[in-house]
Amino acid sequence: MALKIWLNDRLVDEQDAKISVFDHGLLYGDGVFEGIRVYSSKIFELDAHLKRLYESAKVIRLDIGMPMKDLAKATAETVRANNIVDGYIRLVITRGIGTLGINPFTCEKAQIIIIADKIQLYPQELYQTGLKVISACTIRNHPLAIPPQVKSLNYLNNVLAKIEALDAGVPEAIMFNHEGFVAEASGDNVFIVKNSILCTPPIQAGSLEGITRTVVMSLAAAENIEVVQKNLTRFDLYVADEFFLTGTAAEVVGVVGIDGRKISDGKPGPITQLLRKRFFEYAHGQSK
Ligand code: PMP
Repeated sequence: MALKIWLNDRLVDEQDAKISVFDHGLLYGDGVFEGIRVYSSKIFELDAHLKRLYESAKVIRLDIGMPMKDLAKATAETVRANNIVDGYIRLVITRGIGTLGINPFTCEKAQIIIIADKIQLYPQELYQTGLKVISACTIRNHPLAIPPQVKSLNYLNNVLAKIEALDAGVPEAIMFNHEGFVAEASGDNVFIVKNSILCTPPIQAGSLEGITRTVVMSLAAAENIEVVQKNLTRFDLYVADEFFLTGTAAEVVGVVGIDGRKISDGKPGPITQLLRKRFFEYAHGQSK
């Protein structure tokens, strides 16, 4: 069935959802976006996603041109119009139509695109068996380049890391920062468990402040699991008791190998499995 797409100020049919070839989102990757889940007809952590979107836009001096509460309403309307019960929303704000030069201020008006659709997940068995990953050669954006907290339309750095993973025959790559510390995966945040302590790199190590990451840290705290944000090295990953990734699409997924080495006994560990279960319950509103 054809989708209804939100374009600027209204819903249009999929075949009419078109943007200009002069949009700087296309010409320069100039824009910001969010990926958001819908669970049991409820939009997951919408406020947190919108806050991140508006902050990303602020950093790149992009005026979204719509108050946050109206964008929240438009998002809900798009979900409803497409009868999405469990699915995925892609919210995209482009700089808009401008001249061929890089100057963003030639663009008059940001373009707002909201797509609500079904979601393509990792195959279910990967959640049982866990993923293998590699260390990427491509480093995460330097903090003095586009700040890594900005969820911009320019994902080429992460795309290069993803290609490295796929070339190596695994689905994900771990990206390090310019100092050699773990930043994140190409589209997910990184966690390890060592001696029963849950560790994740601080945001300053160059990761996106993942919404799933925040939820998982509070679910862990509710289970009386100690949570520590600290710099991690490749050594820490290699000797981890458990290793997992979090993200909107991946949720909580165990990592069982890196660079051809096995993590622990090569199976997703007990804390990973517990947090995956708690996350599922929370997302579907069955939290204790
Ligand atoms: N890091 C990057 C680079 C991402 O693109 C994402 C989102 N896919 C994440 C981390 C995870 O963030 P979230 O939990 O908000 O989806």
